[in-house]
Amino acid sequence: MSTDLKMLMREHKMVGEIVNDPDLTADAKLFAVCVVVIMAEWRDLSSAQQKLQKRRDGGWLVRASKMAGRRPYWTKMVIAADVPRYEADYGTGTCVGVMIRREGLCGKRTHRFLTVVDPSTGAKEMRGYCTRHWSQDYADDQKRQFAEWKSNGEPTPAPNQGGTLKKYLHTDWPKLYAWAAPYRTPLDGAKPATVPRPKLTLVVNEALR
Ligand SMILES: [Zn+2]
Repeated sequence: MSTDLKMLMREHKMVGEIVNDPDLTADAKLFAVCVVVIMAEWRDLSSAQQKLQKRRDGGWLVRASKMAGRRPYWTKMVIAADVPRYEADYGTGTCVGVMIRREGLCGKRTHRFLTVVDPSTGAKEMRGYCTRHWSQDYADDQKRQFAEWKSNGEPTPAPNQGGTLKKYLHTDWPKLYAWAAPYRTPLDGAKPATVPRPKLTLVVNEALR
């Protein structure tokens, strides 16, 4: 089989995988397909022709926006939305107070919201309470857990959002993420809790007194 045919089949397969990937948003699908097409176009050009085309059409990021019929900043938005990160569970937005007489949660309109962090994993959860179920104890617990999380070295769970484009496109992602979303720190994986520093406890022996 010729190399060209192999490449064509690979690209065809890749486009199929991209459009069928449920993890990709509609914008991410369109972007990834455009990039595959651009790379295929450039592959067939000599380096001089490539240079000429890049000067005329801009780099692949600019070209992808044009090809998709979007504005130039579109690619930036697509990449910013795909930065691998961990996002808290926002819950239902209603009261999570536990009912005593019937099974389940209260579900009433929320009076106070708390973001609770798991001190050992950094997993975050939004919890809402209605006026009846709200208690200052929850706020105190939240503060204590947050302090514990800090002293555990601020662990973070594995990313649960983004990172879908890098499955298909190999490029300098850290650089692209920094360009598209300088305000976001991409997560490579989970950041485990650090082992708490051992505390030296001195026990005064009664016999020494
Ligand atoms: Zn309630």
